[in-house]
Amino acid sequence: MTHYLDHAATTPVHPLVAEAMVAELARVGNPSSVHAPGRAARRAVEESRERLAATLGARPSEVVWTSGGTEADNLAVKGLWWARHGADPRRIRVLVSAVEHHAVLDPARWLATQGADVVELPVHPDGALDLDALAAELSEHGDRVALVSVMWANNEIGTVQPLAEVVELAHAHGVPVHTDAVQAFGHLPVDLRAIAVDAVTISAHKLGGPVGVGALVARRGLELVPVLHGGGQERSVRSGTLDAVGSVGMALAAELAVADLPSEAVRLAALRDALVDGARRLVPDAVLRGPEPSTGRRLPHSAHLTFPGCEGDSLLYLMDSRGVACSTGSACAAGVPQPSHVLLACGVDEADARGALRFSLGRTSTAQDVEAVLAALPEVVARAKAAGLASAPARRVG
Ligand code: PLP
Repeated sequence: MTHYLDHAATTPVHPLVAEAMVAELARVGNPSSVHAPGRAARRAVEESRERLAATLGARPSEVVWTSGGTEADNLAVKGLWWARHGADPRRIRVLVSAVEHHAVLDPARWLATQGADVVELPVHPDGALDLDALAAELSEHGDRVALVSVMWANNEIGTVQPLAEVVELAHAHGVPVHTDAVQAFGHLPVDLRAIAVDAVTISAHKLGGPVGVGALVARRGLELVPVLHGGGQERSVRSGTLDAVGSVGMALAAELAVADLPSEAVRLAALRDALVDGARRLVPDAVLRGPEPSTGRRLPHSAHLTFPGCEGDSLLYLMDSRGVACSTGSACAAGVPQPSHVLLACGVDEADARGALRFSLGRTSTAQDVEAVLAALPEVVARAKAAGLASAPARRVG
């Protein structure tokens, strides 16, 4: 039996979502076709748009369907830069936090090859954005900044960012703010009536929906230059045949996750606390990364620990061999283990950053899953420590 503790990478599709998608799959029709089957498919997409928007406190017209979080982040970062820089060529600066997911960092770094000045803003040791650095950057170069992108909550260490303050600072300089809420949506209240952020990325497969569907929720009037050109769907912001099945799945997954959020956040936080407390008791030199749970400034469902002297991949494989599926939480390229850019940005030294494990919980998680982690952990850490910081193949994760 596998104990699945990698819900931040992807979480099982909710059975009701699967059922609704199968029903929609049985139908035919391109939502852009004018015949009756096409109109029915269009109705499914537009009803899903309305339902998804309602879960976010957004207007249906603000939802731009995408193929997932990565595409929505690319559309936000590149689309906003092209639009803002095009309208005012002095605006060449892109401000992102140093702990963004690669779906934001890499488009920003790519823009640097196209003439953008990209600033990766520093964070505090717990991963929270250094607001003074943002304020200084804006007051010195505010009229040259095209956009700010700061994630709602971090996918590796779970830090919830001070987004309201980010928005206030950026808007005082007339700068739009994008946020990647892929990990937050469904686990924290994401209500766009309460926060004046300009564009928000969400993804279905982190919520109990299917892989391959997401959305950028972009405020009315926000100019975005498209990344994809083609049939002109989604007001020409995002061409491509609309995905009726995916949109039905995403809307229902969002409704279910938001409805269950109050009780699930409490339940998962209790499991997370049991895991963290147990790990610290059993492995006294384990270090929790990100804010302490008691601060309330971390995602309820995720625990990220580093184990000195261990290679994250050794820990991962040893855990896997004991039936526990988790993640190192870090990004690796070409099979070469690399310390996480998130941990390095938090000031963790390279050797400590390599011994990372992320356990993330979700709808199907139980106390038995936590017990399985704790039962395996002491021996896994001892064996990984004995193996030392050897290299092992690894891959990039969500
Ligand atoms: N942003 C964050 C914070 C994520 O955790 C992920 C998923 O790994 C993504 C973006 C990418 O989303 P998707 O897998 O839907 O492309």
